[in-house]
Amino acid sequence: MKRLIFMGPPGAGKGTQAKIICDDYKIPQISTGDILRNAVKSGTEMGLKAQKFMEAGDLVPDSVVIGIIGERLREKDCSTGFLLDGFPRTIEQADALGKLLTELGIKLDSVINLAVPDADLVKRLLDRAIKEGRADDNEETIKNRLANYNSKTLPLLDYYRKKGSLREIDGLGSMQDIAAKIKKELG
Ligand code: AMP
Repeated sequence: MKRLIFMGPPGAGKGTQAKIICDDYKIPQISTGDILRNAVKSGTEMGLKAQKFMEAGDLVPDSVVIGIIGERLREKDCSTGFLLDGFPRTIEQADALGKLLTELGIKLDSVINLAVPDADLVKRLLDRAIKEGRADDNEETIKNRLANYNSKTLPLLDYYRKKGSLREIDGLGSMQDIAAKIKKELG
């Protein structure tokens, strides 16, 4: 049973590593990005609200993603653990998550941060744009996503470092090597 947060800039390989870890520990991968992309695809009210922020590479309003996580963590499959992939991304989201976990009477095990230098990220994101055709993987949007990450999400590293739950992993290397490093850290 593990309750984890995966952090790291866009393009750090968070999603890929999250999948490996979730298969290994048999816990659900909760990606706010995936949930939002599905909502956009199916044209729900939430999707319509989120779409313009996502296409511009901006963060979707805190209230929307906090609502998503509040519902999702109450679902039955989360009772044996979970991995949050791409949430929280702001201090307000982290505070809301803290309150939610207290309400549910549970605690986080670890916050994993995958660190990758900015120069490598742009290249990886542009490569992904070609492979996956994501609407928000163009150069201008990528720059905005990185700027948002640096201003709004990076402060969360200190937030979790102070709580003693941050585990920092070098995100450069092969997929297998990085997965091995994460598993070693998680024990
Ligand atoms: P991702 O797949 O995690 O890179 O997320 C894709 C996009 O979804 C982001 O660029 C944001 O527009 C939106 N998004 C995903 N998670 C969050 C979050 N926790 N807070 C705000 N916006 C989010």
